[in-house]
Amino acid sequence: REAEETRAKLAELELEVQQKTNRLAEVELRLKDSLAERAEEEERLSRRLRDSQETIASLKSQPQQIKVSTTGLSISPGWGRPFGCCFPSTPQYTPISGCFSPQYIIKTVEQQLQSSQKTAAQLRAQIMMYEAELERAHGQMLEEMQAMEEEKNRAIEEAFSRAQVEMKAVHENLAGVRTNLRTLQPALRTLTHDYNSLKRQVRDFPLLLQETLRSARAEIGQAIEEVHSTNRELLRKYRRELQLRKKCHNELVRLKGNIRVFGRVRPITKEDGEGPEVANAVTFDADNDAVLHLLHKGKQVSFELDKVFPPQASQEEVFQEVQALVTSCIDGYNVCIFAYGQTGAGKTYTMEGTAANPGINQRALQLLFSEVRGKAADWDYTISVSAAEIYNETLRDLLGKEPQEKLEIKLCPDGSGQLYVPGLTEFRVQSVEDINKV
Ligand code: ADP
Ligand code: MG
Repeated sequence: REAEETRAKLAELELEVQQKTNRLAEVELRLKDSLAERAEEEERLSRRLRDSQETIASLKSQPQQIKVSTTGLSISPGWGRPFGCCFPSTPQYTPISGCFSPQYIIKTVEQQLQSSQKTAAQLRAQIMMYEAELERAHGQMLEEMQAMEEEKNRAIEEAFSRAQVEMKAVHENLAGVRTNLRTLQPALRTLTHDYNSLKRQVRDFPLLLQETLRSARAEIGQAIEEVHSTNRELLRKYRRELQLRKKCHNELVRLKGNIRVFGRVRPITKEDGEGPEVANAVTFDADNDAVLHLLHKGKQVSFELDKVFPPQASQEEVFQEVQALVTSCIDGYNVCIFAYGQTGAGKTYTMEGTAANPGINQRALQLLFSEVRGKAADWDYTISVSAAEIYNETLRDLLGKEPQEKLEIKLCPDGSGQLYVPGLTEFRVQSVEDINKV
């Protein structure tokens, strides 16, 4: 586009140059005309001059043949006839000397000559003036022509240099465009190639998708089948595990005995008093944790139990010993843990404990619920709590609305040997907090 614009400008400039040249030609034509006119004028003037000179020469060479005009002669009364006459210039006529006096004729001719000479001088001066003017006009014309020529050359040069500069810029632009084109071409090629490959891909996509979907479906089916078989396998393993655990429990019961008795000795308190008698009241066997020695009135009595916990034994250590029984309870066994001893021996501390140091009850409940939560994916457990007291052979419902109501313990009619208390209040619970609230 730029090249085109520049070309248009160039055409304009060329037109301008053409117009200027035309004008110059016109001026030249006019100049030629005026020169011709001048030449004509000159010619005319020189002809007149020549005529005048000829006349003068002829007048000079024939002083006797005088041409007298009627108006140029005055006749005196003493000479000739009182009438004007004409002297023909043809040689057939002889001058009539008898009519005018010779002095008069000479004087008249002299006068005529003088006036002719004056006229000739005047004409000559006029011719010179004309010539000078002509020369001046010619010089002016030449100057004008030169100035016009220079102006024309200048305009042409200017137009040419401007056109050159513009052409250069256009060429540069063109070169830039060419390089751009050269760099763009490979990019276009790669783009076209990419586009074509993409088009191919898009065309092949539905087929590919179908294929992929088919294989994915097959894979998913296979995976589901695998999961099913894994599940079956897991279930099988779980059942086996369950049986194993039952067997283990039976083994445990068989090995440790159905009823186990532990002894726990609490630390000495202020109420116990001081002194070596108090400190040595209970002693232990370092090699056997199932033996306990009591010193009573100077006599030592030894007891053998399933296990003895010394004063420094922690709540956790005690719980570890009964923990397996809690798990057995989840597997469907009846379990009973109870504490026995005189007041102040530490029953409440061992079973309930403190908030900072909980005992067996709280720890057993925590374990129970965490086990139930762990099996929630496969098993549904329902946990309910009830509390009864047997005091002086009387059974009482501690959660019932009627505390005085007497209840009975009965054998289950299904022959399982289980005992139950009809009418005992039960609360469904979901957490340790629920139980504590009850
Ligand atoms: P009981 O319930 O058998 O009457 P407690 O559990 O109330 O006896 O215990 C009596 C006191 O001895 C309480 O102050 C209790 O904190 C403390 N006590 C009991 N056993 C221990 C122990 N193993 N370690 C520390 N303090 C204990
Ligand atoms: Mg107590």
